[in-house]
Amino acid sequence: MKVAIVNLGQIVSGDLGEPLSAGDTIVIEGERIATVGSASAAAVEGADVIVDADGMTAIPGLIDSHVHVTFGDYTPRQRTVGFLESYVHGGVTTAISASEVHVPGRPRDVEGVKALAVAAQRCFADWRPGGMRVIAGSVILEPGLTRADFDELAKKGVRLAKAGFGAVKTAYDYVPLVADAKAAGLLTTCHTGGSSIPGSGAITGDHLLRMRPHVSFHINGGPTAMPDRDFERVIVETDMALQVCTAGNLRTALLCARLARTHQAFHRLIIGTDTPTGSGIMPLGMLYTIAHLASLADVAPELAIAAATGSNARIYGLESGVLEPACAADVVLLDAPEGGTQATALAAIGNGDIAAIGAVITAGVPRFVGRSRNTPATTRKARIARSTVPQDFSGTTH
Ligand SMILES: [Zn+2]
Repeated sequence: MKVAIVNLGQIVSGDLGEPLSAGDTIVIEGERIATVGSASAAAVEGADVIVDADGMTAIPGLIDSHVHVTFGDYTPRQRTVGFLESYVHGGVTTAISASEVHVPGRPRDVEGVKALAVAAQRCFADWRPGGMRVIAGSVILEPGLTRADFDELAKKGVRLAKAGFGAVKTAYDYVPLVADAKAAGLLTTCHTGGSSIPGSGAITGDHLLRMRPHVSFHINGGPTAMPDRDFERVIVETDMALQVCTAGNLRTALLCARLARTHQAFHRLIIGTDTPTGSGIMPLGMLYTIAHLASLADVAPELAIAAATGSNARIYGLESGVLEPACAADVVLLDAPEGGTQATALAAIGNGDIAAIGAVITAGVPRFVGRSRNTPATTRKARIARSTVPQDFSGTTH
């Protein structure tokens, strides 16, 4: 399918270095972006679907780097089906598994955790709930896993490893496990802060400095924060990614964002929701944290969006998260919410409002155009100007 999005008021690139792009048009061919900014009349006229954005803002599809997926579009923790499809209506086009710890009766032995990770990776490899890409299969680091196990997992397509819920005696027991997982080429992540599962123990700055995972998961607490003094140490003494989560401590999320900017480390700050959890299912969680950073920590709205898109893609090695030719065609149209005080999506976010979503396109396919069922209504009205494909774009059927 070829899709042209015309009449854009603003384009947010997702790239921290150059967060805004000039122009008013995006052309998509198949699952990739073809052009950003301008396009010839012939390129637009040749599209199968033309989306009139009515002056809205285009951003890359949001990447939630901390989602508790299990199997299917189901969360056992909240006993709810369809949550991932609902997150698409919150602008999330990619969900990255925070490890499949919520699978009821999850295995804890070496063969069991390996099989769980491989099965999860396979189950989501080609299946897109609501059009969303899910990067699943994060092996839970348990004592007994060896370098050979991690090599085997990497060969089988597992890309992620998670420290924090294993049957270790102390968090320092993760040090060799993280080192072996890294050596095998896995991207390593680590629970940060007070324990969220009884008995798993707090993980603080000292542990992170010894372990050196690629990503400090919910550095602002999941949901309980580590000591304030540890934030600066992690930022200054390591190069790990600083993941700020919606379902965490808001004060330390803002503290972390300010410190990251002070120490020129904002490129390491990434956003996730850490949901579904006991905190709930939050289809708009990414938009909330973007608005919190922009309105309370003086982060420019387009930079907060980059932390939720391009920065996540860079850390996790994804071909999405930026609006650039050849990148994955995951595009969200944002607008100021109807009835608000601001005129544009970015101004609304800076004001602390939840931006309204007018369309979500994933893998080059418009999943809905017009109205998200989760956000407030948009001020402007995006619409299908022309379509030659037999598809209902209203989002009411799927
Ligand atoms: Zn989590």
